[in-house]
Amino acid sequence: MAAPCPVCASPESELIYQLDRVPVTCASVFNSAAEARGVPTGTVRLVCCHQCGFLYNNQFDQAVADVGARYESDQGASAHFGAYARELALRWVEDYGLRSATVIEVGCGQGEFLGHLLDQGVGAAVGFDPLANTTRPLRHGVKLVASRFEAGGEDIDAAALVCRHTLEHVADVMPFMAAIHRWCARSADRVVLFEVPATERILSEVAFWDIYYEHCNYFTANTLRDVFERAGFDVQRLELTYGEQYLVVEARATQQLVGGKSAVDPAGALAAARVFGGAARARVDRCRARLRAMATERGLPVIWQGASKTVGLLTAIGEPTPALFAVDASPSRHDQYLPGSGLGIRAPAVLATTRPRDVVLMNPVYVSEVRAELDVLTPHTQLTTINQLFAT
Ligand SMILES: [Zn+2]
Repeated sequence: MAAPCPVCASPESELIYQLDRVPVTCASVFNSAAEARGVPTGTVRLVCCHQCGFLYNNQFDQAVADVGARYESDQGASAHFGAYARELALRWVEDYGLRSATVIEVGCGQGEFLGHLLDQGVGAAVGFDPLANTTRPLRHGVKLVASRFEAGGEDIDAAALVCRHTLEHVADVMPFMAAIHRWCARSADRVVLFEVPATERILSEVAFWDIYYEHCNYFTANTLRDVFERAGFDVQRLELTYGEQYLVVEARATQQLVGGKSAVDPAGALAAARVFGGAARARVDRCRARLRAMATERGLPVIWQGASKTVGLLTAIGEPTPALFAVDASPSRHDQYLPGSGLGIRAPAVLATTRPRDVVLMNPVYVSEVRAELDVLTPHTQLTTINQLFAT
């Protein structure tokens, strides 16, 4: 059954891109190939709403996605921390005067970002996440609630509400935003601080490997602004961050609804989505053909990255998997297996004995480092980036 638009409720949409048998988790890894291949799958049917230009998976099933979220929670998988998260915490604390204040986080995982906020001077933090582990000892000032924010969070007195990398997982976007708005509207001093993956980059780079089952919503700056304004927020700041991979939005509740013009040009959004859909299908076909040709003529290639982008690529290409194994710098992933394909992950050092003819690099940003490593391990191996793979 196809879901209507979660933003404007219109049933009128156009199919942009479809993927079947998509593993419900892309960030998790597994101890055995059999377990990795046994991960439940779902359908991604990415559609663009005719009325409001919103891009979403109209086959998304929250119950199925919850299974994937449990795998990730069990493994503490998260890619959103580190130096960038620390800087973001510092900026929010400074810009919104949050020293000594109480801050709520919705979708807090195990509270890692709340730790960054406390490091920057926040006084107390309350995190909501249905999968939060509340039996673990927590640092002073942090409280985790193992439920959704909508179940009781609205009564908490706090200066700011943070929500990072959560809204793209929420199928009922508007009821969720309405609960956040009810909390925010209780005081003009309250602010909401959100971060989501930016769809602009996926569309412009035709990064089909970044389409995941876990994500039911694909926001651009314009559709994100539209969601906030429809929910009764006044957007104070909206920007692309982290190499244009994320969108950060900062907003307060409007005191009166002004019903202004939507930021979205639905026809333009639909046109951009159509270009992506056509190009993505062509690129998937091209990548499949190139990888299979490599496998037949030169032996199975190795893929450099044993994480979500590789899961996305192999899901799009389908069986049989045209790769020997994946390599990854992260020791926690070594001798583990990727969901869906069940492809093994090895340490890069293994390449010194395997000496594959070809290595395919998922993230072209690292091309010179990876080439330098290959020069030591297996100098005759040819390195091809994912972008070179589909270039004609
Ligand atoms: Zn819509």
